[in-house]
Amino acid sequence: MKEIDQTLKLACATSLTFLFILMPTLTYSSEVVNIYSARKEALILPLLENFRDQTGIQFNLITGKADGLLKRIELEGKATPADVFITVDAGRLQRAKKAEVLQPINSKSINSLVPEHLRDIDDFWIALSKRARTIFYSHDRVSPDEMSTYEQLAEPAWRGRLCLRSSGNIYNQSLVASMIESVGSDETLEWVKKLVLNFARPPSGGDTDQIKAVAAGQCDIALANTYYYGRLAASTKEDDQKITEKVGVFWPNQAEGNRGVHVNVSGAGITAHAKNRNNAVRLLEFLLTPESQSWYAEVNQEYPVIPGVPASETLERLGSFKADELNLTVLGVNNLEAVEIMDKAGWK
Ligand code: FE
Repeated sequence: MKEIDQTLKLACATSLTFLFILMPTLTYSSEVVNIYSARKEALILPLLENFRDQTGIQFNLITGKADGLLKRIELEGKATPADVFITVDAGRLQRAKKAEVLQPINSKSINSLVPEHLRDIDDFWIALSKRARTIFYSHDRVSPDEMSTYEQLAEPAWRGRLCLRSSGNIYNQSLVASMIESVGSDETLEWVKKLVLNFARPPSGGDTDQIKAVAAGQCDIALANTYYYGRLAASTKEDDQKITEKVGVFWPNQAEGNRGVHVNVSGAGITAHAKNRNNAVRLLEFLLTPESQSWYAEVNQEYPVIPGVPASETLERLGSFKADELNLTVLGVNNLEAVEIMDKAGWK
């Protein structure tokens, strides 16, 4: 009996020691950050794995369509498990801010890293990567000296020659929102009305489809985000290579005093009811390290937001350009008016 007592005492002591050893580990591994991402898993998962390996902070990732995820955060309210919301387009980030599902990020280090125009004016979101929405043209049927600005695409010389995707697409809405800011509502309406007259076909498909349509001879000019072209240019598939051989990149609005190419972003914010706020800030800081920024640049052919981090070789080959440095908060603020103008002008 005495022996059993001794064994029990030893077992208790051992398990207590075990518990004490285990406890810091448990606290450590209970560090977590929960992410709702409108970006595809392949575009974020390797970065999150690096983050976990370097910090010990675990993560849970839910991916889905931007508007659906935003609705989900809204419906979940205070009970939302989401700490970080990642999406594309400043217009959508602004929707999240307006829906009151975000809170100010409040990180001095982030503010010192990300250029001011790529952050929400009230600190509710920041950019993680950049893309330019520029002009793509047929090498066979268009000479670069025929082009100059977005505005010039409304001229009759382009009648029946433009491929653009639908007005329901946030990328085009944000382009129009930037025009409203630069040239005013009335001029923007006139511009969109004339632009629509120049469409080669009713809007359909995504950005890559517009570039492909130029290559296939269905139109001479398209507007698309740079990473779609970058992906084709970096692809080893022969068909993709043929497309980029036929289609060139033109940077509009470059003249002295002009505003530059329309630039938009992917970005992120911290949710209003984040349970792991500190880890959320640490994740955002991690996504802005030169290492993470280069990864974005290489894998998705996007431009880094941190000055000094180089773009991919593929994007470097497209040449440098002057970018519109309008504060991107404006794109969200002008979104509703942009949609109204597009409707009025008959942009389907
Ligand atoms: Fe896209």
